[in-house]
Amino acid sequence: MIALCDTARCVACGACEQICPRDAIRLREDSSGFLSPQIDPGKCVSCGACRKICPVLTPPDAHDILACYAGWTANRQERRGSSSGGIAYAISKKTIHDGGVVFACRYTSDGEVEQTCIETLDELEAARGSKYLKSAAKDTYRRTKAFLEKGRKVLWIGTPCQIAGLYGCLGKRYGNLLTVDLICHGAPPARYWREYLDHLVSGHRGITCSFRDNTNGYCMFVRSGKKLLLKRDWKSDPYFYAFMYGIDLNESCYSCPFASAERIADLTLGDFWGLDRKGLERVPFFPSMILVNTQSGRKILDVLQNELVLIERDVSEAVAGNAQLRQPTPRHALRGPFLDSYRQKGFYAALKETGITETCRKNLLKYRIKQPLYFFYKNLWKSSKDF
Ligand SMILES: Cc1cc2nc3c(=O)[nH]c(=O)nc-3n(C[C@H](O)[C@H](O)[C@H](O)COP(=O)(O)OP(=O)(O)OC[C@H]3O[C@@H](n4cnc5c(N)ncnc54)[C@H](O)[C@@H]3O)c2cc1C
Repeated sequence: MIALCDTARCVACGACEQICPRDAIRLREDSSGFLSPQIDPGKCVSCGACRKICPVLTPPDAHDILACYAGWTANRQERRGSSSGGIAYAISKKTIHDGGVVFACRYTSDGEVEQTCIETLDELEAARGSKYLKSAAKDTYRRTKAFLEKGRKVLWIGTPCQIAGLYGCLGKRYGNLLTVDLICHGAPPARYWREYLDHLVSGHRGITCSFRDNTNGYCMFVRSGKKLLLKRDWKSDPYFYAFMYGIDLNESCYSCPFASAERIADLTLGDFWGLDRKGLERVPFFPSMILVNTQSGRKILDVLQNELVLIERDVSEAVAGNAQLRQPTPRHALRGPFLDSYRQKGFYAALKETGITETCRKNLLKYRIKQPLYFFYKNLWKSSKDF
């Protein structure tokens, strides 16, 4: 029988599931919450299609970076709902205006996240913002192929492993496809978020979470519909804390083959950590880093030049400031104890036993005292420098 990559290396992109002509593969969670492919021996005909397109076993072609920019959307109002410079939103909007479709990530009605097909500006709002958990690709690679074959323009935004899985399933590059990958620190399995929600709220229906925006930075707002249920900064929320320190990521994230300066997508977006602001005026608090990896990537920035502010920077500045362009996130010292505890007692107990909840409880007290001061100084900064 066909052997696919083991759980420790599987990036759970779902490409094998979608390419299988016999529908013999399903991604299943193991006792640690990690997804990996399970093959139904009764259905598998050993055709090998899954091995050929698995981005871990057969990595797709990657590109050297052609150019690097610090950038953001010129319209400040428009930028507000986004995580950094709002570039993903601007490109998505343009695609929809041109009659194309966008595949991006949004919350499901059950509070989880998935890649989904977006055709209207209203639907696009829900895709904004970074969701710090693994997004399910579902059947989106197949659907993308169908749109491309019909000649429709497609924009696909996702993590590098999803873009790699997509190219594997497509089997070739299409002129009407534009891909954007995010610089990715790694993502916790969806099961952890599900278990965390069980602890936070009664019922997941209609729950969404904004982890990061332009105004509040790394601050978590959990909502049920429009009602705000919880607001905490990253240091005072155990889920967020474990994510930021790389304690609870999917196992394969620690050996991610895509955490490098060679990129698979046409464009790469991230935060411009390490931007040398000397000599630069009017740079917002969270500028985006935009890496142009192909001519298609270059073309869309040319088309949007009146809507975006773009400042060309040296690629080495981007690489020096953003660790995920050099290597995967390292395992935290609490990783082992966290996993041991998780397997026996579940997510919240593991956060407790590793001391994360207690650290966050103390941080929450500090946050409540410091928060008014933080906003006072941030608003001062904004009124003098931001726009
Ligand atoms: C799990 C994760 C880890 C990240 N780690 C880093 C990092 O270490 N360093 C860094 O510089 N940047 C990181 N980013 C990227 C960064 O947070 C911003 O998403 C990026 O700069 C784009 O900002 P924007 O304002 O242009 O996007 P927005 O306009 O806010 O749009 C965000 C886009 O990201 C997509 N998206 C959101 N969550 C997910 C998800 N879970 N899976 C797939 N697609 C998603 C949305 O569909 C949307 O298209 C990470 C993002 C995620 C989701």
